[in-house]
Amino acid sequence: MPAYDDSNIFARILRGEIPNDTVLETEHTLVFRDIRPQAPVHVLVIPKGAYVSYDDFAAHASEAEIVDFHRAIAKVTRELGVALEGGLGFRAITNAGPDGVQEVPHFHMHILGGRPMGRMVQPG
Ligand code: 5GP
Repeated sequence: MPAYDDSNIFARILRGEIPNDTVLETEHTLVFRDIRPQAPVHVLVIPKGAYVSYDDFAAHASEAEIVDFHRAIAKVTRELGVALEGGLGFRAITNAGPDGVQEVPHFHMHILGGRPMGRMVQPG
């Protein structure tokens, strides 16, 4: 696991050094709009703790952080109208490392919806 680099852009957002469009904040989790949205709904769900990727988070976060993170997804998908409870669904994506083409090395889950999302993985 690479060491966490606290100069990454999401660490700076968490420290309040750069602005963000927050949708939901809980004890351990922040949800904000992606700066380059790929769909009508495109938010990023991040833990406040310093985790590089999903596998890092899943292995090392506390149970409280893991539960809080997933409950935040449940809440925000409902609030944004994409949960199956009242909506048409969404795609949750997390990229990890070079093969996952992860740009920002702070674990984040993309929630995309508001239109049909097409094939899951494009060839190449
Ligand atoms: P990744 O490729 O790491 O899975 O996704 C990183 C995401 O972070 C991209 O969708 C990109 O648009 C978003 N992003 C990068 N910099 C910023 C920023 O400063 N603010 C916000 N809100 N999103 C950002």
